[in-house]
Amino acid sequence: MNILIKNGLVIDGTGSSGYKADIMIENDKITKIKTGLKTNNSQIIDASNKVVAPGFIDMHSHGDLSILSVNKAEATVMQGITTLVVGMCGIGMAPANEKVRNYYSNLVTKLFTLQDVKLYDTIKEYMETISKKGISTNLAFFIPHGNVRTCILGMDDRPATPEELEEMRVIVRGGMEAGAFGLSTGLIYPPGSITPTEEIIELCKVVHDEYNGIYDSHMRDEGANILDRGIGELIRIAKESNIKAHISHIKIGGASPELTNEVINFIKKVREEGLPIHADLYPYEEVGLAISAAMLRPWVFDNFMENLTNPETRKKIAEESLQYFFQFLKGLPPQVQNLPKEEKEKLIFSFVKQYFRVMSVMKNHHIEGKYLGRALKVLYPKRKFIDALLDFIRDEQGSLFFTVKFMDEKTSILSLFQQKFVCIGTDGFLTSEGQSHPRSYGTFPRILADYVRERKLVSLEEGIRKMTSLTASILGLNDRGIIKLGNKADIVIFDPELIKDKATYKNSRQYPEGINYVIINGEITVANGKHLGILNGQILKHRKSN
Ligand SMILES: [Zn+2]
Repeated sequence: MNILIKNGLVIDGTGSSGYKADIMIENDKITKIKTGLKTNNSQIIDASNKVVAPGFIDMHSHGDLSILSVNKAEATVMQGITTLVVGMCGIGMAPANEKVRNYYSNLVTKLFTLQDVKLYDTIKEYMETISKKGISTNLAFFIPHGNVRTCILGMDDRPATPEELEEMRVIVRGGMEAGAFGLSTGLIYPPGSITPTEEIIELCKVVHDEYNGIYDSHMRDEGANILDRGIGELIRIAKESNIKAHISHIKIGGASPELTNEVINFIKKVREEGLPIHADLYPYEEVGLAISAAMLRPWVFDNFMENLTNPETRKKIAEESLQYFFQFLKGLPPQVQNLPKEEKEKLIFSFVKQYFRVMSVMKNHHIEGKYLGRALKVLYPKRKFIDALLDFIRDEQGSLFFTVKFMDEKTSILSLFQQKFVCIGTDGFLTSEGQSHPRSYGTFPRILADYVRERKLVSLEEGIRKMTSLTASILGLNDRGIIKLGNKADIVIFDPELIKDKATYKNSRQYPEGINYVIINGEITVANGKHLGILNGQILKHRKSN
């Protein structure tokens, strides 16, 4: 069925001013853009007083981890998102072998409170399985570095040998041949956290030299040392492999306005020197934290329950956990850093109790939404903090997802958002039960409502550019992200006065308001604010020539 969208304000995604026009969609393409279009064989959508924009592209999603069971991807499609970029932070469902399977059942399921995880040997096989099942949204895959390295080295904390490196190159080639857009890393999680920079450079050379793909990284540091350990490493990788590099979910924990400025100026400078660095961002002050994977060392997962029960191993874990928490003090003045250990402990624990929020767990759903201090009081009233926390982690079998107020709008998020090189990504999940970070449901409408309409940080046209053509150009998607003749018909129609996110930390599973229609590959997937169950999404394939 052809579709004619009448009387809308077309904001085409390039950043140029909106204009009144009708749009004709035939099959999966935009075929006419003109005023006064008529039809006698098309479905007509009246878009009077509405904005007609390209479907939003989510530059950072973990939706791939559960897309087979949540294939309508309601949380994202209802936001106007028509393409998810997935395989992020070095984590994915493919490629896999026995080593990855052991590692996943022990670690990555705990990372994202996933259950019944099934892994696929190759990205190609996973893509084919998804296509067969049918999905509502388009997916653009990255190759997760964590899988690649674990396939060959398991959790070994040592550099790869030349032979192992060659085996990893072969796996990366396989993913790129299947149509992946590049390589992703998660350098705070194992095995990213134990991977030397040189190894990443070698794999990026394959991605760039042989496939013209890109590098997308959850950086090694997103706090006080972001300049050298975070962006510095990313730039070194970009320079030495010649690859186009992208910063995942840019954030500067505990940033002063000065550090934020330094980061922005640093990126601007390297961009002027010719390195096309970009970043994506979500509009929330609380970040997501998979506490088990972040806090516990890889060895703990080998015999998880036993290690967290045996007094001897537990003592070691408590000591290592303390080191993990102490890193949050890094950005603070030397007076704090030089305090006696007990004083530092007190300080950091009171921070953790107040600012770490339990978002989703496997068993004790009744404490979801509570801050950690409160949650532990309810569950383990008599235990000391670190003991209670380790009990909690053990009793939930490691499946705990927290949020932490790690960022400040005024000192970092708002000024990062306004930068030309920053696009939008949710860092969201597709879940079928429990709570989720509100970013999974609210990111795009929140920006259009709060940052664009209310605070006027950028124009509506620029806000939409950050959600569409900018992202498409980073990925090298030539036929999406702009409303123009011949492009694929991924379109969102919304009311710029009414669009609004509704998801909160306490009640995240709420769809936004003010989004009337979402069209994906020429099929109306959301109509009058309701998901129709249409499965017309595709797996997008990267092409060398892009
Ligand atoms: Zn990440």
